[in-house]
Amino acid sequence: MSIEASVTKLDQLPQEMLEFTLLKTTGALAPRLGRLSLAGRKSILTPGFIGNTSRGVLPHVSQDTFRKSLNVNGVYVALEDFVEKHPQKTPPIFSYDVPEPLRKFITLPQDTLLILGARRNPPIHSPVPNTNTEVGLLTSVGFRSISSEYYAAAVRKLQPDIVVGLADIPFGQESVGIKRKDKMSDRTENWLRDIIAKKSTLDEEEKGWSIFAPILPIDRDLQSWYLEHLLEDMVDKISGIAIYDTYLLDDLPDQLHHLPRLSFHAPASPHELLRQIGLGMDIFIVPFLADATDAGIVLDFTFPAPSKDEASSTRKSLGIDMWSEAHAISVTPLSEGCTCYACTKHHRAYLQHLLAAKEMLGWVLIQIHNHAILEAFFTGIRASIDAGTFAADVASFEAYYEPALPEKTGQGPRVRGYQFKSEEHSKKEKKNPRPFRKFGEQEIATLRAAHGQQSNMKPQMRDVIDDEALLGLVDMEYSDTNADVAAPIENLKLEDDAKA
Ligand SMILES: [Zn+2]
Repeated sequence: MSIEASVTKLDQLPQEMLEFTLLKTTGALAPRLGRLSLAGRKSILTPGFIGNTSRGVLPHVSQDTFRKSLNVNGVYVALEDFVEKHPQKTPPIFSYDVPEPLRKFITLPQDTLLILGARRNPPIHSPVPNTNTEVGLLTSVGFRSISSEYYAAAVRKLQPDIVVGLADIPFGQESVGIKRKDKMSDRTENWLRDIIAKKSTLDEEEKGWSIFAPILPIDRDLQSWYLEHLLEDMVDKISGIAIYDTYLLDDLPDQLHHLPRLSFHAPASPHELLRQIGLGMDIFIVPFLADATDAGIVLDFTFPAPSKDEASSTRKSLGIDMWSEAHAISVTPLSEGCTCYACTKHHRAYLQHLLAAKEMLGWVLIQIHNHAILEAFFTGIRASIDAGTFAADVASFEAYYEPALPEKTGQGPRVRGYQFKSEEHSKKEKKNPRPFRKFGEQEIATLRAAHGQQSNMKPQMRDVIDDEALLGLVDMEYSDTNADVAAPIENLKLEDDAKA
């Protein structure tokens, strides 16, 4: 076949042909190497990670920065970020009449893989309970619920590359009874059938999508009916599985082993990532990345770990707190040897200044760097699995680095509703500290003195001025500054008029 002929053949492949190739696997509960590819999108080598979006973007990363400075080949998007005002009003995204509306809406590059699920990762526990047909969500205007049918219709309209089936998981509930677990598995099965049925109604010219089936965070015998039916009549309709509890991977039927595994089991640290990879997990969404960035923590670890200096008995920190004034005069890169945009163009002192001044750019640069560190981490992991040294490399990583990410010390950017647990929503305290406060009598007196006033001389003024922002204006008299400013504008206008 000529090259042209084979190219045409590729073009004719149905667009939704998601392919997962296992490149290396050594057993059921062992690390494995793979490649997830879809025509027209960049492949994702596994183990690997995809970006965790908030309202369609990686926090702090604008669309052009995403293209220029990040090397993220796929993103996870939650439908709950887009269905505000439902059911009273049609969410704007559904009125967007273009091919691949979700991708266009969030201006995601054409070659980035787009995975859609119902809930953010990690989700906020919704006080609206799931029912047989509906799932509780947190939209930007409050808790709502959507039906399985609505979800399927939304997927058809939004045309992601991959959709994760609805899972009935009572998030936030500490103990779940046996009966409730039965329900979880029944509902999840029904909802998966709904999305498969919706896909079968697609017209030929409509863009299709691949389906990932949720595997519930309960023991296998409690979801055995669901798993059995999944194998009996749905396994050829799904292209992957979404796993909510990695430690139940040994319960996974053999017939599902060839499918890519997307982890919804949020890892708290790089160590936990390694543990999940060790059990054979493939694709990750990593919430600790953005958490570290918000906290002003620059991730600083490599895999395999550098060889341990025998002289030092202390373990190295997984990150550097950029709020620390120790960096105020440091002109070294954020982390030695990193080749990201932030490390090659800027130094720690600048980052420390940006954070102290609460400049948005500070978090942008840290986010770029943190993604680069994680990308290098996964590249190292794949090389290590390939070389057959993964287990030993994990052991030395654990010996070299501290077990948890450093604690947050500085202030993060303004927090949003979805960054709170639902029970915290009802609390009276302010979620963000007040940016301004009123001065006390003493402070006002000091300020007045600084402005050459004596507070007791003008008692009537005290009643008039109740906003500290006005204090500086007290002595300001009308000057002809305004006239000076106005003059050139007046001239400009005349010139323009003359030209016209
Ligand atoms: Zn860097």
